[in-house]
Parts: sequence; structure tokens; C-alpha cells
Amino acid sequence: MKFSTQLLIDGQFVTGDGQAEPILNPATGELIASVPEASFEQVNRAVNGAQRAFAQWSRTTPASRSILLLRLADAIERHAEELAALESLNCGKPYLAVLNDELPAVVDCFRFFAGAARCLQGPLAGEYIEGHTSMIRRDPIGVVGSIAPWNYPLMMAAWKMAPVLAAGNTVVLKPSEQTPLTALRLAELASELFPRGVINIVCGRGESVGAPLVEHPLVRMVSLTGDIATGQKILQSAARTMKRTHLELGGKAPVIIFDDADLEAVVAGIRTFGFYNAGQDCTAACRIYAQGKIYDKFVAAMTEAVASIKVGGQREEGVEMGPLISDRQRNRVASFVERAQNSGHVEVTTGGKIRPGNGFFFEPTLIAHARQEDEIVRREVFGPVVSVTRFNDAEQVVQWANDSDYGLASSVWTRDLSLASKVASHLQYGCTWINTHFMLTSEMPHGGMKMSGYGKDLSLYALEDYTVPRHIMVKL
Ligand code: NAD
Repeated sequence: MKFSTQLLIDGQFVTGDGQAEPILNPATGELIASVPEASFEQVNRAVNGAQRAFAQWSRTTPASRSILLLRLADAIERHAEELAALESLNCGKPYLAVLNDELPAVVDCFRFFAGAARCLQGPLAGEYIEGHTSMIRRDPIGVVGSIAPWNYPLMMAAWKMAPVLAAGNTVVLKPSEQTPLTALRLAELASELFPRGVINIVCGRGESVGAPLVEHPLVRMVSLTGDIATGQKILQSAARTMKRTHLELGGKAPVIIFDDADLEAVVAGIRTFGFYNAGQDCTAACRIYAQGKIYDKFVAAMTEAVASIKVGGQREEGVEMGPLISDRQRNRVASFVERAQNSGHVEVTTGGKIRPGNGFFFEPTLIAHARQEDEIVRREVFGPVVSVTRFNDAEQVVQWANDSDYGLASSVWTRDLSLASKVASHLQYGCTWINTHFMLTSEMPHGGMKMSGYGKDLSLYALEDYTVPRHIMVKL
């Protein structure tokens, strides 16, 4: 498969001057590419290019930005199979899942923000001091440094670029050092459409490329999807130059199953929403609370369902779950499971082991009888591991669900919609699904509370995050 390893800096495709990063196929462990990272000087050039481009780009009309975003969406759609193949190769994801689930969402994200660019609203002009007319503008902020994780590289690039560009900002995007390939291909497609310097893509590690981007005085806002610890480092660094920040950090989604829930629907739901992308998803349905009467039936049916998930390489017939992103991530997941087992009171009802052979595979795993205080219930595993804890009543389970550092996603499963609505209103999570989980749509915000961060992706809220309200007053 052919692909580019060049960075896009101020309208030029250039080879990184920094250390070469090995890019592996997680399904085999084989080297597929080597991408030289950006040097400090190249990061500086990208930011300066974005700053120069901002002067013109920020003055374009929403309609003209909208047309370019729509054209980029069309280009991605035309190249969907190629991009899906590249993403699947670099992440180990099943090819058809990327093509059928992720690519349409990526295209829709650009199309949504193309429309949203033209729909920002604010209060009318008015006289709030006699003889003076006040009005509100929503203006772009400047150069946005965007830093993405490895779990959905192309989708994260879309979430980070589309609202930033729609609002009239320019962007320097740093994909994860492990998964730069689709962002680099996107750079080629975008460079044919957008003016020089509006979009820049620099690759490399967090410390060598991410940190100088965050520290650069001309970067006015930093957006990160990543780990809590990375978010904390970025906040500290951003404080020095008073940058705006947009943080989307981890999650540990509670899933509350009441006795009256539709067991079949719950099991089918968790089989998908707990193990999609091998559980490497910040909204994964990974922390189950099942009520006393349904608990045993649920554990039995869920064990069978999880054991039936077909694990394999990207193009294997019927494959549902791929490997983890790296050996390191797999070892991390394995050590969580091992520590849970050592507690003595949990039962690994299926899975729990590294799959022997090539690639970074870990078996889909269900851990029953977990307790609220257990590490497996409290910390994000970011792998195909779901825990189940028994609860008695609604009050107790809401308290347990909220007793978490995280606050990104949650779900409630019951036939009693009044109970579901009440529980949903008491959960401290950016999103609560009722009788489903995981479903995102471009019109609705995605983002966390507490240590899951506060930036909103998707929806008009993201567009607001990437703009600043300004007051203009005219003396009459
Ligand atoms: P990570 O925080 O290690 O890396 C994320 C990005 O930050 C990478 O591009 C990395 O190079 C960069 N980075 C690391 N240190 C940096 C620094 N000091 N300065 C600047 N940039 C730096 O996270 P990851 O392992 O790539 O991704 C997994 C994490 O992302 C999980 O915790 C997951 O929950 C989270 N995540 C959150 C969401 C969400 O929407 N909230 C979505 C996906 C993933």
C-alpha cells in the first residue's frame, strides 16, 4: 500500500527533520512505515505559517469556508476505501468497521460544520447605555494547536479540524506518533483545496513535538484528546501564555442495568458498545452495575456473548474485534486483569489472556463480582475488559456511578422511562444514554465533566468553543 510520510508545513510537503518513528501494523507487529518527526524549527515554521494564513482566512465569509469544508468532505468520501484501508492497517481495526462506521462519521463531521459555520447566532444589537449601541461578534481565536490520540486517528482529526476551520481559525494538528498515516493523507487532500498555511500537520511524540506546539507563543488555543496526565501537563504549560484550552480526556463509563431491563437488548448492546475498537474508546461501556435480580442472568448471558466475539486481523472474514494498538497497551491491559484476579473475589468469566502468536491481541474479557472500591471499577483500562458489579437500589447505584474521577459517558437500561430520566438527571456525566450507549451524532455535543475535561466536540457547542464572543459598542 502506498502512503505519504511527509508533513504539511506552511503549504509545503516536507520530510520531518527529527527522529524517525516506527509505525507498526498492530495485527502482525510488523513495521509498515517510518515517519520522521518534526523538528523544533519545523513546528515553529508550521505555527508561523498558520499565523500568516490566519490574517486572510479569518476574514473569509462563513459561506466560502463552508464550500471548502464540503469539498473536503466530498474528497474524503471519494477516497473512503483508501482511507479506511490505511486506518485499518495502522490501528489494526477491522477494515469494514472503519469503512462503514468511521468514514461516514468523518465525512458527516465536515459536512455538519460546513453548515454550522453559517448558523452561529448571538443577541441582537441594542442600546444598553443610552445613546450607545452594543453588538456581539463571535470571532475566531487564531492559531489552534490540536493534539490527537491513536484510537480514532482520522475521526479525531476531523473533530479537531472541522469546527476550528469553520470558525475561521487556522490549525496545526499533531496526530499521535503511533497513528499518523490517515492524517498525512488527509493533508494531501486538504492541501488541494485550502489556502497555504490554513492546515498544517506535524507528526511526532508528545514531548518533542506536542510540547513545543503547546508552548509556542503564537498558538492561541490548544485542543487535546488524550490522557488525564497529558491534559494536566498541557494546562500547566498553557498557563504560562494564558492560552485557551479544550480538553477531552479519558472515561470510565458506568452502565446501570435495572432488574426490568430487556436482557437480550442489554447483552447485545454491551457486546457491541463495550468491545468496539477493542474497548479503546473513552466512552466504552466498561463499568457495569447490574441490579440484584437480573445480575446472575446477565453475567451468564453476557459471558456467552463476549466469548462469541470474533477476534482477528483487519480483513478476516466476519472479524469483529482487532488487536490493541501496541504491545505496551496490551501489557497494560493484561496487568489490570491480573491485579483484578489477585483481589481474590472477582471471577474472570471469559477471556482474560493475551492471545498467543503475532500481533497485539487480547481476549475479550468479562470480570464478574467486581466491587466499587476495586481498581478495575475505578481506573480506565482502555482495552476489551468489562467489569460487572451488583447493586441493590437506585440511590446506591447513582452514588457509585458518580463516585469516579471521570465524567464523560454513562447509560441507564430499564423499561421504566420515568426511573431512567430521574437517574439520568442525577448522573454527573457529559452524556447519558437510555437503553443504548455509544451513539454519537454531529448535532449533539460530546465531552466530559470532572477530570474527563471540559471541551465539547461536535455540535454548535464546539463551534462556540473555538470562537470568542466580542462586544462592539457604537456611540450614536
Ligand atoms: P496520550 O495523552 O498519551 O496522547 C494523546 C496525544 O497527546 C498524543 O498525540 C501524544 O503525542 C500527545 N502528548 C503526549 N504528551 C504530550 C505533552 N507533554 N505535550 C503535548 N502533547 C503530548 O493519550 P493516548 O494514549 O494517545 O490516547 C488514549 C487516551 O485518550 C485515553 O486516556 C482516552 O480515554 C483518551 N481519549 C479521550 C477521548 C475523549 O473524547 N474524551 C477520546 C479518545 C481518547
